Amino acid sequence: MKFAFLVHPLSRETDGLVRFDLDGSLLRNWGIDPAAVAARLNSAMAQSLAAEKPELEPTVTVFDELGPLTSTNGAAAEGRIYQIPLTALQILENPDEALRHMEEAVALAAEWGARLVGLGSMTGIVGSRGEYLAKRSPVAVTTGNSLTVYTALQNLFHVAEAFDINLKHETVAMVGVPGSIISAVAALVAPHCGKLLLVGRNNGTGAVRRLAEQLGGEYLGSIGEAVSRARVVVSATSSGGCIDQQQLLPGTVVIDIGVPTDVIGQQASRSDVLILTGGLTRVPETMRSTSSRMLRFHHGVIPSCLGETLLLALDQRAECLSLGRDLSLDSIQEIGMRARAHGFEFNRLYSFGIPLGDGFSAQFRKVRWHATGNHNEPVGETRKLTSQAAARHARHCSPVLHALSQSSGFVKTFVRGAGAYLYDAREQAYLDCVSGFGALNLGHNHPAVVHAISEAMQQQAPGFVQSAVNPYQGALAADLAMLAPPGLEMVFFCNSGTESVEAALKLARISTGREKLLSCMGGFHGKSLGSLSVMGTAEYRRPFGPLLPGCETIPPGDKELLERTLSSRQFAAFIIEPIQAEGGMYPLPEGYLSTAAELCRRTGTLLIVDEVQTGLGRTGAIFACEHEGIEPDVLCLAKSLGGGLMPIGAMLTRRELWLKAYGTIQTFALHTSTFGGGSLACAAGLATLQVLRHDRLAENAAARGEQLHRGLTDLCRKAHCLKAVRGQGLLIGLEFTPLPANLVAHWRASDPTGMAAMSIPRYDNYVEGFPVLHALQTLLNGHNIYVQPCRSNPLVLRVQPPLITTAEEIKRLLTAIERTCEEIDYSTGLIGGVIGRSSIGEHDAASRHLVQAPR
Ligand code: PMP
Repeated sequence: MKFAFLVHPLSRETDGLVRFDLDGSLLRNWGIDPAAVAARLNSAMAQSLAAEKPELEPTVTVFDELGPLTSTNGAAAEGRIYQIPLTALQILENPDEALRHMEEAVALAAEWGARLVGLGSMTGIVGSRGEYLAKRSPVAVTTGNSLTVYTALQNLFHVAEAFDINLKHETVAMVGVPGSIISAVAALVAPHCGKLLLVGRNNGTGAVRRLAEQLGGEYLGSIGEAVSRARVVVSATSSGGCIDQQQLLPGTVVIDIGVPTDVIGQQASRSDVLILTGGLTRVPETMRSTSSRMLRFHHGVIPSCLGETLLLALDQRAECLSLGRDLSLDSIQEIGMRARAHGFEFNRLYSFGIPLGDGFSAQFRKVRWHATGNHNEPVGETRKLTSQAAARHARHCSPVLHALSQSSGFVKTFVRGAGAYLYDAREQAYLDCVSGFGALNLGHNHPAVVHAISEAMQQQAPGFVQSAVNPYQGALAADLAMLAPPGLEMVFFCNSGTESVEAALKLARISTGREKLLSCMGGFHGKSLGSLSVMGTAEYRRPFGPLLPGCETIPPGDKELLERTLSSRQFAAFIIEPIQAEGGMYPLPEGYLSTAAELCRRTGTLLIVDEVQTGLGRTGAIFACEHEGIEPDVLCLAKSLGGGLMPIGAMLTRRELWLKAYGTIQTFALHTSTFGGGSLACAAGLATLQVLRHDRLAENAAARGEQLHRGLTDLCRKAHCLKAVRGQGLLIGLEFTPLPANLVAHWRASDPTGMAAMSIPRYDNYVEGFPVLHALQTLLNGHNIYVQPCRSNPLVLRVQPPLITTAEEIKRLLTAIERTCEEIDYSTGLIGGVIGRSSIGEHDAASRHLVQAPR
């Protein structure tokens, strides 16, 4: 359907600027080719100097052609923007002349074929908000006010969410009653806000007082008084220029819908208030390039009065929707819903023409926080925390994770965990096959661990006691010593895996007097500087050098090389994981660990076994080194020792080594940790060890691991996208085949300037890993199974459910992985086939049977 919309130049200058660019090329190039923009601006300025105060064209002109416009759901429309030859000031001075031009414009629009005309910013002057013109017009007219109201509401709710403003605790001022827009906004906001102030200039007679009474608000005749009481202001007067920025309270948010604007000034004069242009909507991407001015400028952000006219046309509705003073609240909701259905957006906020950026937002959030003293929800009320969780995470924790969740649906907000399951805010359950990277062998919130921690709290266990005896710490150390391989008797407590590795490396240096440290390529031991120095993946080490001197890596599995290296007798320690978990779930070749133990003993090198991830039942034994029956000098633990609830790490070693290192009055406190051995963490540790033994979780890990391993091995034979399955017990990695070369090349070609390849490190590797991302996404969103890739090997999916997982759950997991692989094989086969065949010109019927559709 065809529609028209009326505009006027703001001033002669703006009209002049627009006319310098009659072919629209300046606007077309805006933001695309900065050099061209600069050149054109230069020539525009030269012309501007030559033609001082250009005269307006004396008649109504066509300012812009919109279309053909297609919304995201496929509806179509076509529009024209007509310009009245009067500036804002002239319209106010001479409304009769303005009205004459408007009638002329409506007639021209009708002649062109428009079945609906939007009055836009002319609304205020056409008697009873459009009703006068509607009676005389051959076609329908609308003011566009309904969508403007809807937009203002969305703006308000968006701001409230973005800045943690609880409207229920706020005094909100509505400036401009009895205007139709602000009256409707007030009516819709009233139920959501604390105190409502209605602000107008006509002494509050009749309608205004009734409105105030009806909404339970208070009428004020003074804007100054209103802004001295309210920190949220929505404003839509018809006169403009009535709010002084200097009068606003610190931390105030103003949503200014007035045209011309109500807040005085062309820029923000204060950094402690936020003044936003309200009432703007953004049309879908598909529409933006179809106009040379209105839709292109500001990247598709337009006034909602134009938006409403356009929407009605898309819906083939030649209706006088928003006329008169009393807007229908139902129509407002309805038009808003239609706008969303067509792909319109309402969350772009501008302050004096500048999009609201992260920097300002962060600073303003602080100002408001201090100004209002309105500080956060009670701790622990999960439901209340969740609505803001993702935004806060993006702001203060990880913008990248947030971007990923927005673009790909990879990232969920989990609000609850119980047993083997995580739950989102809608109580959807996800089988957790990440297990906190190994910290959840017992699953989430195991009752025995919860009970042990609560019990310790009930008994007022000492929090942290340094240089004193804590019974919880002693008890856990004794239990660990009983379970550990022979010879390990002394326990140092800390709070994480990397700290237990740091403790081990320091112990090795001090007790051997040697400097050098040997580790394995592909190994992972933590990210603090010492542990990082023995990390086997260069990408993690490189950005942080120089690291500890004297660190060397060797490929794991090569016994001769290990023997040659250690024979120098310069190494304080050889640190090794029984299974390289983060590196891609690579177990050591059989016999390597016992040979290493023997070589270390012979050369006076300490053998440090890092069981941070493999320990505590994960591989089918309490410690993975038990599989080879070795006796390490040092054993590192963390992750699941806290039962999934407490951070705790431990380094276990032999008594004589400990005494050599820290056995004197001068040395006993050389390595300590403030929080290490805290009561609650140790209580959790004690309960964990009990559950592990009592529920025979290592045995369950072995049985379920075998079931899983067997199923995945079968699947590897069938699925093209799978390359290998590795691991032991429930520490399993599923390696995917990299995306085929023709698909990688195809993907690269979709980035013709090479920009994506330049901005994403190791771009080809990233693209090759798409099947893993596909699997991750499908398992998460299609099967409610939460998996992650290995940290240092993105082609390997870690399949690491808690040790409490049942045979039934493993069956479900296997089915889900099978379906997912079928889907991946189908899509890569299909696309690969099409690319391959089309490039060699072969389009025979056989290509259609290239792959079988998944069941
Ligand atoms: N060692 C190993 C074998 C690990 O897997 C990890 C963590 N993935 C660490 C050490 C480091 O543990 P944390 O993250 O607790 O420092």
